[in-house]
Amino acid sequence: MNSQEVRSTFLDFFQSKGHLIVPSAPIVLKDDPTLMFNNSGMAQFKEYFLGNATPKSKRIADTQKCLRVSGKHNDLEEVGKDTYHHTMFEMLGNWSFGDYFKKEAIHWAWELLTEVYKIDKDILYVTVFEGSKEENVPFDQEAWDIWKSLISEDRILLGNKKDNFWEMGDQGPCGPCSEIHVDIRSAEEKAKVSGRDLVNNDHPHVVEIWNNVFMEFNRKADGSLEKLPARHVDTGMGFERLCMVLQGVQSNYDTDVFGPLIEKIVTLTGKKYVKGEALGEQEKTNIAIRVIADHVRAVAFAIADGQLPSNTGAGYVIRRILRRAIRYGFTFLDTKEAFIFELVDTLAAQMGSSFPEIRQQKDLVKNVIREEENAFLRTLDQGLQLLDDVVKQTQGKEVPGAKAFELYDTFGFPKDLTALILEENGMSYNEADFDKAMFEQKTRSRAASEVSTEDWVIVREKMEESFVGYDLLVNEAHITRYRQV
Ligand code: ATP
Ligand code: MG
Ligand code: MG
Ligand code: MG
Repeated sequence: MNSQEVRSTFLDFFQSKGHLIVPSAPIVLKDDPTLMFNNSGMAQFKEYFLGNATPKSKRIADTQKCLRVSGKHNDLEEVGKDTYHHTMFEMLGNWSFGDYFKKEAIHWAWELLTEVYKIDKDILYVTVFEGSKEENVPFDQEAWDIWKSLISEDRILLGNKKDNFWEMGDQGPCGPCSEIHVDIRSAEEKAKVSGRDLVNNDHPHVVEIWNNVFMEFNRKADGSLEKLPARHVDTGMGFERLCMVLQGVQSNYDTDVFGPLIEKIVTLTGKKYVKGEALGEQEKTNIAIRVIADHVRAVAFAIADGQLPSNTGAGYVIRRILRRAIRYGFTFLDTKEAFIFELVDTLAAQMGSSFPEIRQQKDLVKNVIREEENAFLRTLDQGLQLLDDVVKQTQGKEVPGAKAFELYDTFGFPKDLTALILEENGMSYNEADFDKAMFEQKTRSRAASEVSTEDWVIVREKMEESFVGYDLLVNEAHITRYRQV
């Protein structure tokens, strides 16, 4: 089943169960002060759970573009190193707002996975919340009983509060969740580990695919729980992970979601990508290729949704992700010229039918990425040389914060990029001193607002210089949105 079919099968299935299919919300949130990027399917429905708004339908399903690069959910460090955490990914979800509850949710999840997608039951495990006396929340007997009617007991594992209890905040709707994990280990891998607590063993080929949250409590200000009058279901399934399972591969990058991007990177750089385990230099090449294939999606979708790279806020997060990708290419794939922008055509061809914005904004996205690449590449070489000298000169493992700041200030190295490069050398830098240097510089140069205004002017000038035959209307619309950030 190709990824288009995987996606449409999910949506068709829930439509057949009475769900209204809605489009993904933008990846960048403009009106939620608590969240910079959409990081789960439920974010756009938050107000329904809080009872502040009424949904169009009590049953909704969709695929949501998510980005997990900041705040509580930050997977950036894992990306490319493992094969199943991405910065940007799609979360397939179904919701019940005060309608069906555990029984239907679990039965449908099982029906979809085993009867429609025809996943072998013997590779599935589920988790159920074990309860917590201290926190005054009970064991989820109801979910346990439902699962017991579907699978053998030794495939139902208990999970603790961290993994199996979901809370929106210190107060408000909350409840236990039940996850579905899939075991795609090879026979050799299986021979090495066995036992009940597989899921908690963090084996890279035993992966969580679907989380079903059952909101049935309200956490009150005094910390106690009361039953909610209306109970809700909120589920999220990792689309790329599901494709991995259904396409019989062991890495999200070996699916058709990433395949064309990887092929294009290989063509553009002349490097080799090796599926499965790679060692030594090839492992570094593999990681770099995965990082770039991943990061270009995050950056391209953010720009298509109106978030240009900049020096502040969400724009800076996007710039950092792109710079991280550029540097991986520069160091491990020997790319000394802009090339990431060329991947946007591949991405648009592949994702455009499900997410038309990427096709509509393709030229803008390409131009912005190319400009960013050129600007950063101009200083990257010098910056890396400086960092190399600093590493050589430093005695011990900690680089002075002022040096890391110099790289940031003069060469545009985001601090997490400096940290990453140092980490590759078994080193770190002094963060407190970095922050101090940053504070002093800000005081000197009067305020971040100037930086962001200036940033806007630069981006705009560059676009006008280099955009040939570009649709100015779209450009203006983006600039205006960008300005409001
Ligand atoms: P994990 O434990 O693997 O980090 P999670 O528990 O943080 O996942 P949830 O918040 O429960 O994930 O999100 C629902 C689903 O979204 C997960 O079951 C998983 O399939 C998928 N998912 C979560 N984070 C990522 C990511 N960074 N990249 C790709 N898919 C993800
Ligand atoms: Mg996680
Ligand atoms: Mg998890
Ligand atoms: Mg989870």
